[in-house]
Amino acid sequence: MSDTEKITGALEQLFAPEDAALQQALVAAKEAGLPEIQISPLQGKLLQVLAAACNAQKILEIGALAGYSGIWLARSLPAHGTFITLEVSAKHAEVVRQSLDRAQITARTKVRVGAALDLLPTLQDEAPFDLIFIDADKPSYPQYLDWALKLSRPGSIIVADNCIRNGQALVEPAAGDTGSTAALYTYNKQTATHPRLRSISLPMSDGNHTDGYNISVVLPEA
Ligand code: SAM
Repeated sequence: MSDTEKITGALEQLFAPEDAALQQALVAAKEAGLPEIQISPLQGKLLQVLAAACNAQKILEIGALAGYSGIWLARSLPAHGTFITLEVSAKHAEVVRQSLDRAQITARTKVRVGAALDLLPTLQDEAPFDLIFIDADKPSYPQYLDWALKLSRPGSIIVADNCIRNGQALVEPAAGDTGSTAALYTYNKQTATHPRLRSISLPMSDGNHTDGYNISVVLPEA
């Protein structure tokens, strides 16, 4: 076991132990044949720390998969809070509903099925969201950022996963490149330079691969 793996294991044990509902969400995902591309326990705990920092009462997630990150997020809310997650796959959404149900947090959660870019305009009456977590199709990240700004308030926190990609998301792409890493580069660049955002992308390594969150705080309008 590498030093990074040992340190990650110790940190998970101390700060982010998984309970039965989180473990069962992973089992359910596997049984349903879903890809194992959920966040890590430490990333889940970091979302909860950020939710506490912005006193989150309403959280929006783009990209639910099997509800693993959704459990971390919904649990960071008070009982009267609202967690909305957007998922394009009806099959994934069904697993999400079951996972949230097992975690006994369905009362504060809403699973909306459809392409996020179609659903986001329908959320304006439910905004502002205090925390927005972006973790869906990468080419749409720049558009998700536009929507996150529309659906947030000063002090809201916007988190986007996979913004390092072993450094590829930090390399300026060739003109006309419309791929995932090009969009992630655009996302990094936009958040680094946007006048209403204070942002950072944080490298997180599992010993083999370095990826990580981009974290942005929405500033008041000047
Ligand atoms: N946040 C999840 C977690 O950590 O447990 C992982 C999400 S997974 C990386 C990405 C999810 O986004 C998949 O379930 C995929 O079906 C969904 N997705 C992809 N494109 C989407 C779109 N256009 N709108 C909504 N969801 C989308």
